[in-house]
Amino acid sequence: MRECIEFETYIPGRSIDEVKELYGLEKVVKLASNENPYGASPRAIEELRKFTDLHRYPNPEYRELRERLEEYTGWEAERIVIGAGIDGILETLFTMLIEKGDEVVIPVPTFQYYSILARLHCAKEIIVQRGKDFRITEQIIDLLSEKTKLVIIPFPNNPTGNIEDPGLVKEIAESTKAIVFLDEAYIEFADMNLDLDLENVVIARTMSKAFGLANLRIGYARLPEWLVKYYRSASTPFPVSTLAERVAIASLEDIDWMKNCVEKIKSERSKLFGELEKLVEAYPSQANFIFFRSKDGLAEELLRKGVIIRDCRSFGVSGYRVTVGKPDENDFFLQKLKELL
Ligand code: PMP
Repeated sequence: MRECIEFETYIPGRSIDEVKELYGLEKVVKLASNENPYGASPRAIEELRKFTDLHRYPNPEYRELRERLEEYTGWEAERIVIGAGIDGILETLFTMLIEKGDEVVIPVPTFQYYSILARLHCAKEIIVQRGKDFRITEQIIDLLSEKTKLVIIPFPNNPTGNIEDPGLVKEIAESTKAIVFLDEAYIEFADMNLDLDLENVVIARTMSKAFGLANLRIGYARLPEWLVKYYRSASTPFPVSTLAERVAIASLEDIDWMKNCVEKIKSERSKLFGELEKLVEAYPSQANFIFFRSKDGLAEELLRKGVIIRDCRSFGVSGYRVTVGKPDENDFFLQKLKELL
């Protein structure tokens, strides 16, 4: 094994069946993985059912999907790359950019996979604590060096749900030659996007969240033009299946489904936040989840009552993250939470 292979791996949220079996429960609600509770567009599911070419390899150009994404994002198709989720895109970028000892700047608390990849690539993690309301601060600029290869900025951040000052993000990008990776996994739920187009900025998005396609593993990113050929040579040849590509295209053709889900989730987010504020220390969110602080052990206690939420200790912060579910799921969570507080 390479010396930086560790045994610490990403721990996903528990599944509904697992929890039902563990505690002998009939009703379990999962609000732990930031999924779209309404699922994928019916047109996407129809497309999935039609697919029979399982024996054929995908066409690795993903041209049609990139063209549809150009219509959706306004980004040029030639600069869009497709990967197995944002996770897959990150993995390729690390393979391209990171040599042993290179520095990767990660503002914490945040999504753990950044740190896992940095360690797997023998990088030096430069961990920066976020400031007030979990926003990144100018401190990042002081930490940039010749060895910095990658600066990661999620927008909105997971698990805290906040966005950043766009002016500061631009200033950071202009202060370094390193690649600045803007992770917009939850952008459809936010009031604004960054759309920063510089020669060292990569913006990544996913169809796992708002589009309800988490299981298909479709991520995409806009790269600066000069980086595209390097990305193609570092990526696995067929990161996404044709089945996934077709379903993604059908989802983009039924954009109203996604917009409608996002509207419902945003309206539920606002109701849930209002209720949570009365009970715990809740933080406003621009994503499809809410971060809050409460007593220790709460996630475990809720689990026993059939509600799966995320304990954020593994993100490096004490607190909890609850995904905004359907109205009845959110009510069930609030009812169980009230019983425990
Ligand atoms: N970035 C962030 C901030 C996330 O929270 C997640 C999913 N939990 C991802 C990326 C990974 O998304 P994908 O399903 O596209 O790999």
